[in-house]
Amino acid sequence: YMSGNKQVAVITGGNGGIGKSIARSLLRDGFFVVLADLKDEVADTARDLENETNGNILGMMADVTDFTSTVELFNNIRRETATESVSVLINNAGITRDATIRKMTYEQWDQVMRVNLYGAFNCTKQVVEGMIGNHFGRIINISSISRYGNRGQANYAASKAGLVGLTLTLARELGKYGITSNAISPGIINTEMISTIPAEILKDYENKIPSGRLGKPEEVAELISFLCSEKASYINGEVININGGFFF
Ligand code: NAD
Repeated sequence: YMSGNKQVAVITGGNGGIGKSIARSLLRDGFFVVLADLKDEVADTARDLENETNGNILGMMADVTDFTSTVELFNNIRRETATESVSVLINNAGITRDATIRKMTYEQWDQVMRVNLYGAFNCTKQVVEGMIGNHFGRIINISSISRYGNRGQANYAASKAGLVGLTLTLARELGKYGITSNAISPGIINTEMISTIPAEILKDYENKIPSGRLGKPEEVAELISFLCSEKASYINGEVININGGFFF
């Protein structure tokens, strides 16, 4: 599984709907892809994608909330791919634990912050020195339309707005080392994550979305593919909405 001359791209939450789509796009673009996920199915997912695409891909179990787990993950990645530096990090692992502020428990707040915000910090810490050494890097944080605020999502909205602050700061600190840091902010994308939203509410969203439909994970993946490419080398510290024109 040596990466050869391929650049290594790591996608956290890589077993999820958006993660898998990002993997397909980056495999097509010629990256060596690593899917990191809490779910142990991630190894099978990677094998399936390898068969489907003929690309180089590995699935690894990791808990992004646990700093030590992320240290081990990136040590494994460097060993398995025989590369010093990860070129692309997509901080995509994310969860929701929705409740209004009156009902939200400390646990719900804490879990969401740990995965969505601390997870991005933990993984970013593991790649920064290598990217500086290589004078190249792409860090992409997956924020959300909820970053502007959304009923029932104080925890999720705060975490996704937090990612924007992280992104803007990384851009300012790391730009001079050939690293770009950007965030994307998807609207309602058709994946497992929205499976808990009742059908009639989804229908109502569809009517309100200017583009008239939910987003597809492949559409999110194409934006990320562009941000990872040479063509996007002067886009740094940007937060890009991809939401069919819709806001809550
Ligand atoms: P998903 O639930 O399909 O995938 C999320 C993945 O993250 C899952 O495979 C899960 O196992 C993994 N994960 C959870 N906790 C983890 C941990 N501690 N360590 C490692 N992995 C962990 O959701 P998705 O729709 O693919 O979402 C991907 C990202 O996009 C998330 O950050 C989400 O907040 C964001 N997003 C999604 C939507 C949407 O409508 N689907 C909209 C805006 C933003």
